[in-house]
Amino acid sequence: MSLFRNAAFFKSAAELEHVPASAGEIAFAGRSNSGKSSAINALAGRRIAFVSKTPGRTRLINFYALGAQRFLADLPGYGYAKVPEAIRTPWEKLLGAYLQMRAPLRGLAVVMDVRHPLTELDRRLLAWFRPTGKPVHILLTKADKLSRAAAQKVLRRVEGEIAALGPNISVQLFSSLKNSGLEEAAAVLGTWLDASAPAPCSAGDENPRHDQGSGNKNPRAIRGNQPGAKCLKV
Ligand code: GDP
Repeated sequence: MSLFRNAAFFKSAAELEHVPASAGEIAFAGRSNSGKSSAINALAGRRIAFVSKTPGRTRLINFYALGAQRFLADLPGYGYAKVPEAIRTPWEKLLGAYLQMRAPLRGLAVVMDVRHPLTELDRRLLAWFRPTGKPVHILLTKADKLSRAAAQKVLRRVEGEIAALGPNISVQLFSSLKNSGLEEAAAVLGTWLDASAPAPCSAGDENPRHDQGSGNKNPRAIRGNQPGAKCLKV
């Protein structure tokens, strides 16, 4: 079963100091109205993220627990023209700081409307994130709005463009409405988190680390698969 099926809202953070202690997380970013909340809900198989009727309203990072102290981080949508500068600036600062400095972040999923891929703001986001060397996976969502042939054509074009941006960046078609592309997305994103999963216990382990659940905020208790980490008894 996909890792995202167990996702449950954990907390919102307006500042970096409020982000949870984490053994690994995947962030979702995208322009307002790109279909990011719908994509998260489709992956979770139920409505956990708020599908906004007023684009640009959410200015927080929303964390969803995936179990074993791993998270999906839903980043504030960007590019909503009507947001005043006074609000936009701290919001972009939070986004930039999170993307560039968050150590447990394993990779970034970027949601784009298949009809408007790789906008100027999407490119700016990628340019911020690429220096981290972490992987990026693009979901070209609302694929149901185009014919199959037209969607394939966009996919090929975006594949060509991202190839020029360097390694570790991939793209796929997605539709939350039709629930298409779910397995592919879960497989790519799940691989990133697998690398941060606590090792399962083997027979003879004397010191199993029981999953402390999503309420544990003590970073020292969460070592993932780093040397010295205890195994996870599930
Ligand atoms: P967000 O602002 O990026 O979180 O975008 P939302 O998930 O709120 O979606 C914005 C609008 O696009 C909503 O009206 C959704 O119903 C619609 N939408 C999202 N995903 C899809 C999709 O895959 N297909 C279609 N046809 N509409 C979608």
